[in-house]
Amino acid sequence: MKQEDPAQLWSVCLSELRGMMPAQTFATWFERTRGHDVTSDKFTIEVPNPFSGERMLKRFHDQIRQVVTTQLGRPVAIDYHIFEGNTQIVPVLTDLPSYVPADDRQIVEEVETDNLYDNYTFENFVVGECNDFAHAASLAVVKSPGQQTFNPLVIYGGVGLGKTHLAQAIAHESKRLGTVDRIRYVTSEIFYSEFIESIQEKKTKEFAQTYRNVDLLIVDDIQFFCKGHKDRTQEEFFHTFDVLRQKGKQIVLTSDRIPKELSGLEERLVSRFEWGLLADMKLPDYETREAILQKKADKDGLSLSQDVIAYIADRVASNIRELEGAVLSLLAYASLSHCDITIEVAKRVLKNKIRRRQRSVGIEDIQKAVAGHYGVSVEDLVAKTRKKHVVAARQIAMFLCRDMTRASLKDIGAIFGKRDHTTVIHACQTVKKLLLNDEHLQEELDRIKNALS
Ligand code: ADP
Ligand code: MG
Repeated sequence: MKQEDPAQLWSVCLSELRGMMPAQTFATWFERTRGHDVTSDKFTIEVPNPFSGERMLKRFHDQIRQVVTTQLGRPVAIDYHIFEGNTQIVPVLTDLPSYVPADDRQIVEEVETDNLYDNYTFENFVVGECNDFAHAASLAVVKSPGQQTFNPLVIYGGVGLGKTHLAQAIAHESKRLGTVDRIRYVTSEIFYSEFIESIQEKKTKEFAQTYRNVDLLIVDDIQFFCKGHKDRTQEEFFHTFDVLRQKGKQIVLTSDRIPKELSGLEERLVSRFEWGLLADMKLPDYETREAILQKKADKDGLSLSQDVIAYIADRVASNIRELEGAVLSLLAYASLSHCDITIEVAKRVLKNKIRRRQRSVGIEDIQKAVAGHYGVSVEDLVAKTRKKHVVAARQIAMFLCRDMTRASLKDIGAIFGKRDHTTVIHACQTVKKLLLNDEHLQEELDRIKNALS
């Protein structure tokens, strides 16, 4: 078929192209394009912005050329022009066959997303007031990766609130829509261990290449960079970050706290993380908890009545992983006992879980746990003794009281043998400093905390 009217030619081509990719991808990239001009050896396509033009060239160019050539019955070059208003056409990109270098092409096909959970998608993510900002920011990043204002996107918040889920949803959706080619999702532990390995194997250049050659880099749990001696890792990450950002590549990071509170993170990294967008995830409110429970139950094929859902939503408020845990316990019970989950059953099955989680930890609990862990007595902790091992245990106990209770510095000092609040501040700072270089201490604290919860 010969069709020399550019608009008509393009509309025929579009109907061909539509069948060659997922509907969503087509809608994202082709809906706002138009055929502009056709000559004996060139076809010009209007695209809405430079980003879209670049995509065309990098991702769909071969398909477009093939379809246009078939329709015209002769080979033509394809040009992409940015369309401005009704008349003005700004040519910015031309058909250069060498635009995508040969070995780059190879990498283009590789999407490093094997390590993603299949169900951490936007579809499975319940949006509530607690996470709507982070959710919207994540979608924006998928749609227009690399925009300065969203680069990096730092998603931060407490444990089990959905940071990893959201970060992986960005990877899944970007892959599905084809908004970026090379995606790399890693935890900061993996970044660290790959980097160390590359040093040992004298392959640091290859390491740098791998990370600096992606279009979307997602690093989960960057707080890990602050633990122990990771100066070189931070340095490497710093350079990776700068190279990617300069190239307009998107960076997404997650952290358990806002970057400026990541003690142990180099100042230049902290300031860079603040260049883009900081999006926090808060504890889910009651309605969101209900919606999440309903969604999880539906997904697992578990039928839960409204009163059971309300019972759990009311009592499990600390994080979303625990909501899931409650649903899983009920699911296990239902499948073993083949009985329906009534409110009585739910109460019985979840009794221990819920009661234990709800109990708040008090200063005395912490004193007991710390004393037991370090083999000293609670009396020692509150006494005047300056024995080294007692002082260390006392400082840790004070730190945990500050961390796990709402008690003021003054109250904590008073309970620890009428000490001044400055002593408590000093204790907290000492432990924080120790934590920076001592991973075992962190593990010990985690163990004490677990015993308390
Ligand atoms: P984080 O990385 O913040 O510790 P995760 O992303 O691992 O938390 O989330 C914990 C669990 O809760 C995951 O199984 C995740 O799928 C689920 N989850 C978190 N937020 C939501 C949400 N808004 N909707 C549905 N499930 C969620
Ligand atoms: Mg996580």
